[in-house]
Amino acid sequence: MSTPTDQDLFERWRAAPAPLLPLLHAFHARDGHLSDAALTAIADTLSIPRADLYGTVTFYHHLRRSPAEAAAPRVCTGPVCALHGAEALCAALDAVPMPCAGRCDQPIPVLHQDQLRIAAAGGTRAALPLSLSSPLPPPNPAGSAECVFAHLRTPGRATLDGYRRSGGYQGLARALAMSPAQVIQHIRDAKLAGRGGAGFPTGFKWQAVADAPGAPKVVVCNADEGEPGCFKDRALLDHDPHAIVEGMTIAAYATGATLGFLYLRYEYPETFFTLAQALDDARAAGCLGDNILGSDLCFDIHLRRGAGAYICGEETALLNSLEGKHPFPRNRPPYPVTHGFNNLPTAVNNVETLAAVAPILRHEPGWYHDLGRGGHAGTKIISLSGDIARPGNYEAPLGLPLPELLYGWAGGPLPGHTVQAVTMAGLSGGFLAGDDLNVTLDEPGLRAKGTFLGAGGIMVFDERRDMVQIAAQAMRFFAHESCGKCFPCRIGTQRLSERLEGGGPDAPDLWLAEVQDVGRTMQALSACGLGTAAPNITAGLLRSFPDQVARYLAARQGETTWTP
Ligand code: SF4
Repeated sequence: MSTPTDQDLFERWRAAPAPLLPLLHAFHARDGHLSDAALTAIADTLSIPRADLYGTVTFYHHLRRSPAEAAAPRVCTGPVCALHGAEALCAALDAVPMPCAGRCDQPIPVLHQDQLRIAAAGGTRAALPLSLSSPLPPPNPAGSAECVFAHLRTPGRATLDGYRRSGGYQGLARALAMSPAQVIQHIRDAKLAGRGGAGFPTGFKWQAVADAPGAPKVVVCNADEGEPGCFKDRALLDHDPHAIVEGMTIAAYATGATLGFLYLRYEYPETFFTLAQALDDARAAGCLGDNILGSDLCFDIHLRRGAGAYICGEETALLNSLEGKHPFPRNRPPYPVTHGFNNLPTAVNNVETLAAVAPILRHEPGWYHDLGRGGHAGTKIISLSGDIARPGNYEAPLGLPLPELLYGWAGGPLPGHTVQAVTMAGLSGGFLAGDDLNVTLDEPGLRAKGTFLGAGGIMVFDERRDMVQIAAQAMRFFAHESCGKCFPCRIGTQRLSERLEGGGPDAPDLWLAEVQDVGRTMQALSACGLGTAAPNITAGLLRSFPDQVARYLAARQGETTWTP
């Protein structure tokens, strides 16, 4: 096939909805990088000021600007990969470090020439095996029912035929036999809430979009899974892509939307092709497009690939990214339900939330609600990684005791070791340790311990780990990913990072006061969840590990001990 010209690429994409990202990726794939000439042509064609486009392109981690940059592999140096020797691997490969690539169950991922490979410490550029698809989730213990994983392990489930053989598109058919208001009521009665971290009730969100004036209405699937320690959406998208398509289509019917986007993080290159195939197959089978399943419903989904920016997991930053703007989070209100993509009413839902929609429609609402324990509704996928015998994705009933998950389901710590601490919500919930590990996995239980479930990533650290070092690495991540729009987060993440890496006042009590003061300021004044969550790392460190902090402060001053 001949190499496409600039004109070919513009003809393919300029009139498509949300054209900037696919155009950038098309030039990037053709040339291996984005040249000045390409940026100029794209800016002029899409009427974007050249300086704005330059600022946007250089904000993303994975858009390379020169052939030399294109040659360098990218090695995940996230918290779990760091335990497996990622920094040494990065140096050995002469590679560029990249934030957590969502493969904490398969360390160490390396992105090279737009392909994902898996390397071990000691790997070389000549010997980087291509990544296999995501591991299937380990089976739940007998008696623990699942919702989104219930059929995911069925052979052939990722294909349209396999999906239909195991109940696929029956939820959509049932929804189409109901009124949109009845579908929303069904989801409300099941008490489905957002599974991306915010936990907002899904039925209320859909109702707000349905009620909002403006057309066309939009459904966006947020598949920009960037939180370190979270890899659940990848498993769903790889093994059950039609469940997401079906969930989005039911959301479209309920809200009155005709336009859909699936925004996938850059670091899942194979998943992109799986999704593209699923969308093509769904369209060909009449499950997507015009007159879906013979009804009046017309809805299509456009697949868009991010370019590497943690902040795009925040829904308003994602919308700006789709619109071709710099992906800063927006000030709220107004909320996306009334002013979302291009200021249209927009339902932004997480992958796991959407995957639960069709199974809920196939059952009565009480079925989903009763999957939880202790009166908590439904299930939550927990991505478990780090120093644990059986890492992986587990679909846990909400209300499950954390020790039951760690020791009963996942086999406990590695032989000869003990669990020292876990992170919650990936990194954003900070640390739990000691008696605080005796908690149930539900929002009230976790909030009482000063943390939250978020997107459901839990990383385990055993007694060998230096928790100040783990906290320093976490804060470095937040400082790197802060979008810089508001100063409490932009400066605060930097100051906290410096203080965990040897900086700050010499006097330990001043150091402690400053770390707490910076954290409180960030929590009070930051404009989005990154800035308010980052200080959970230092708060959890000071609360759970005062001895290790004291040792760190003493060592910083050349002493051997210091008691707070
Ligand atoms: Fe950006 Fe941080 Fe402010 Fe969020 S809190 S808008 S990430 S600077």
